[in-house]
Amino acid sequence: MKFGKVLALLLVASALTACDAREEKASTSYFSAEQMATAASLRDAALEDDGTWEILEELVSVAPKRLAGSPGDKVARDWATNKLESLGFDRVWVQEFTLRGWERSSASAAVLGDEGVDLDITSLGRSVSTPVGGVTAQVIHFPTFGDLEASAESAVSGKIVFISNRMVRKKDGSGYGPANVARSRGHEVVARKGGLALLIRSIGTDNHDAPHTGVMSFGASGVSQPEQDLAYEEAVSAPYGEKTVAAGAISNVDSDVLEALFESTEAVTVALEISNNDLGEVTSYNIIGEIAGSERPEEVVITGGHIDAWDTGVGAMDDGMGVAITMNAASMIGGLARRPARTIRYVAFGAEELGLLGARAYAEEYAEVDHVFGIESDFGIGKVWQLSPAVSADAVPVLAEIATLLEPMGIGWDPEAQGFPGPDLRPLVAGEGLAGAALNGDGTFYFDLHHTAEDTLDKIKASDLGYNTAAYAALLYLVAEYDGRFDADTY
Ligand SMILES: [Zn+2]
Repeated sequence: MKFGKVLALLLVASALTACDAREEKASTSYFSAEQMATAASLRDAALEDDGTWEILEELVSVAPKRLAGSPGDKVARDWATNKLESLGFDRVWVQEFTLRGWERSSASAAVLGDEGVDLDITSLGRSVSTPVGGVTAQVIHFPTFGDLEASAESAVSGKIVFISNRMVRKKDGSGYGPANVARSRGHEVVARKGGLALLIRSIGTDNHDAPHTGVMSFGASGVSQPEQDLAYEEAVSAPYGEKTVAAGAISNVDSDVLEALFESTEAVTVALEISNNDLGEVTSYNIIGEIAGSERPEEVVITGGHIDAWDTGVGAMDDGMGVAITMNAASMIGGLARRPARTIRYVAFGAEELGLLGARAYAEEYAEVDHVFGIESDFGIGKVWQLSPAVSADAVPVLAEIATLLEPMGIGWDPEAQGFPGPDLRPLVAGEGLAGAALNGDGTFYFDLHHTAEDTLDKIKASDLGYNTAAYAALLYLVAEYDGRFDADTY
């Protein structure tokens, strides 16, 4: 790439002030010219390389269905283990953990009467089944979760609840959280108020027929993982409607239809039937591979994605893409003549979609590991557009220097933004204050496809994968070489 050559020349020129760049760094430079040139060569090689696409294509064809605890989860585990070994990772192993498994069976919903219409629906993750024969009842409409919470019990009791909030499209995905509370928390409020079932407008920005699934939370917001697990056990063991109700998401198109009916019809009645299986205790897996550090192997830079995916699509975008990008980036670094100083540990996390369960198991088992820096890839479609730090103020200039290698690609740098290293790193951030950064993906169209049957390989461009891999490879290499710490004491 042309800009790569130009940049290399500029770096060589700027390094002339230091005779031995490795020993006598200029005060503004945290990396030697040689280190920057190696990172630039990784970047440029990744831009021309199809390896990430090949990994992703293989993953979604070998293991298209990979919900935690499903037969496909084991296929994905074996695929990832073999892939890491064949890519030359030094050490590859599997961490097992258990969870209460859940399996989707079927869902149907129809508006009864003259206005009769079948609604496109999918179960929310972990939803219980409706009682035998389904539930037929009048529907009460709430524009938001807050409206449901504020409603009188008498208004909800004996009815099916429909929450119609629509997710707002934003590049950074910040429209997701405010709308998503309907999906995560709605079912418990409906049960508490004596409602019979929950329907929500899909949490997505699209206008298509594919409904968006996603997990429901159990237990009060903010309680510990063991308390959440207990709340889930209790809810699925209790009689129907006591602690939770069956819950499904209606496609955005049919949610518009349903919403319009409340304007034109006195009473909307829906026949709903949801069937799912509680699998009891099942096993899932984190698949781990290491590129051993050449000087300080006990210091670990952690990267990866989550290998589980919702069963509605094939998880090409969420998160096959992240699994492949970081796997190939780490593998390219492993192919260097001289390994970086620190170890790069790649993790394909399991059971992210069911509540970061693999991530929590990882943080528990590897609490003693010296994780120096972390970055996951699990957001956005298309090209990364910005680097943002999640490090101490002292270490921000180090990332600023790394950003100079990404800038020619068109990736911005925002030292003020607080980066989010990734959902599966959240337990490490919370537990040990893991430092890291975010290479922000573009979320503008991400939530058109997220958790739907439309999350398939044809939505992804091979060149975008190479582009993103270039950014991860350059960044991972340099943070694994850097002499100092990044401790996120202010994060
Ligand atoms: Zn994801």
